[in-house]
Amino acid sequence: MKKTNLFWPLPLLLVAACGEESSSTESENPNNSTNEEGIYVTASFSIIGDMAEAVVGDRGTVDYIVPIGEEPHEYEPVPSNFQEVNDADVFYVNGMNLEAWLERIVDNAADTEIVQVTEGMEEIPLEQEDGPDPHAWLSPKNAEVYIDNIVADLSERDPEGAETFEENGRAYLEEIDTLVVEIEEMLADIPEEQRLIVVSENAFKYFGRDFNMDTDGIWDINSHEEGTTGQINRIIDVLNDRDIPAVFVESTVDKRYMETVADNASLEIAGEVYTDAVGVEGSEASSYIDMMRYNAETFAEGLSE
Ligand SMILES: [Zn+2]
Repeated sequence: MKKTNLFWPLPLLLVAACGEESSSTESENPNNSTNEEGIYVTASFSIIGDMAEAVVGDRGTVDYIVPIGEEPHEYEPVPSNFQEVNDADVFYVNGMNLEAWLERIVDNAADTEIVQVTEGMEEIPLEQEDGPDPHAWLSPKNAEVYIDNIVADLSERDPEGAETFEENGRAYLEEIDTLVVEIEEMLADIPEEQRLIVVSENAFKYFGRDFNMDTDGIWDINSHEEGTTGQINRIIDVLNDRDIPAVFVESTVDKRYMETVADNASLEIAGEVYTDAVGVEGSEASSYIDMMRYNAETFAEGLSE
């Protein structure tokens, strides 16, 4: 439960990491590949990777650490991950209580600058622990914060590319604007009393705030305490009190907990949504924008019945 304490030293680490490296983005730095193959960005998980890729475009390459299908909270980094961060010009993280494994990266890849791309986010607090809920990306209205931070950082690191990064960022945010309108339209017909999204991990708080939906989960945030009897009984009570047609599961969470809940509340599981990772290549959710559209479609279908 107290794992979030790991994060409080992070801003200090960020400052320490930034201080020494900030003036050495030129090609004399042997760790820096900007000159030959373009800028090399490593992101902590696929969603930040997808956004960074949109901004970087053809001026470099982007990798991410947590594989699709695994959740980014309690991932166990492997030695090749330390290398991926070490080789990168910059390591983009979400912070805000997301990557519980960040300290191990910092200890093993100390030379690479870490940038928290949620800087300036309007945070929603966790319900059962101290600190912010990390799932800010689950509202597309927050994509602007991520993209602006990525554009600003890349432009400083690779000034010749600044114009390209700004252009790529602008184009991406235009797609986001369209997406927001699409989502609003999709959700508009869900009756007021059915506007409750229930998933295993209550990760849709930002989405709920921005699109006028209540949200709940079996548990508040992925941690060692997942799916306890108390948590399962609490959400069954919530569902029995409120007349909604369906609940949902996530692509990155063990579905057995929600199956138990759905059985006990006599509800249908109306679909699988994407929270902590994009979908696999070729799926309906293989990019951040597609994943957000797919989630909204799934909610609209499941909750409108
Ligand atoms: Zn999560």
